Amino acid sequence: MTMDGILFDVDDTLVDTKGAFARALAAVRAEHLPHISPERDPEILSHWRTDPGGYYSRYTRGEMDLLTQRRHRAALLHETFGAAPVTESSFEAWDALFWGTFEQSWTAHDDARAAIDAVVAAGIRVGVVTNAAVELQERKLKVAGLADLPVLVGVDTLGFGKPDPRVFLEGARRLGTEPSRTAYVGDEPTVDALAAHDAGLTGVWLDRAGHRRGPGYGGPAQSGSASSGSAQSGLAPSSLAPSGPARSGSASSGSALPDDALRAALQRDPQDPNALRAAGVVVIETLADLPAALGYGAITDQFGSA
Ligand SMILES: [Mg+2]
Repeated sequence: MTMDGILFDVDDTLVDTKGAFARALAAVRAEHLPHISPERDPEILSHWRTDPGGYYSRYTRGEMDLLTQRRHRAALLHETFGAAPVTESSFEAWDALFWGTFEQSWTAHDDARAAIDAVVAAGIRVGVVTNAAVELQERKLKVAGLADLPVLVGVDTLGFGKPDPRVFLEGARRLGTEPSRTAYVGDEPTVDALAAHDAGLTGVWLDRAGHRRGPGYGGPAQSGSASSGSAQSGLAPSSLAPSGPARSGSASSGSALPDDALRAALQRDPQDPNALRAAGVVVIETLADLPAALGYGAITDQFGSA
């Protein structure tokens, strides 16, 4: 396959957002959940990244502003871990600590800079399509040393975000490439890779070691006072549901839907690499795998050897 353009997700794809959240949540735990031992930090991080209340999804659908979704997530976190309720006034200090620490922790993944340079060196256009606001992501990329990447589409560009197919198509349009000759690389199998595939792009799932979300990934399963049963629902892949936004548009350009068995496998585990490959998604484990996976930028001639 030959690509004219490659679009990247930002969080946990180029920038180590998980690491930044880990530092922010550890600070919050020490200050606002003092009864919780530091050993449970992985559980807190897992809860945050899984977003069992689905609040970030509501933000990306334009149903809630950024600060409101964060306040709801803070409240659910406190409820889940048996901490004092988050009120309007207590949230102000909570968020100042959380967001302040988060912003100070933005760093690029080790493989990001080289991956971008390889794309550019291969003469392939490159840009960003993200589910956060354009201004925030421009700032984040700048801090992370990736300021040269144009943020083409944010959640505020069209008023909604991934997995809606129109978001990926708008990214390709702004990049100036045909969707069928454009790849989208992201760390979330459903919201990023499968949704991009369904929109007619080549969907690439970056399955970084230790970065999967949910119970069993990145932390022990919640127990005890945890509000059981809600964590898994946060993973419910909206683009797999018959009425989900990625399926409702007319934008699919001929890519086959997974058959029933495949759909069932992905609903059981949306992070099953084999099922995702069978659905047409390209799976890689680091950004260094990207040139080989998409067939560009072979560096065998780097030292003049044939
Ligand atoms: Mg991401």
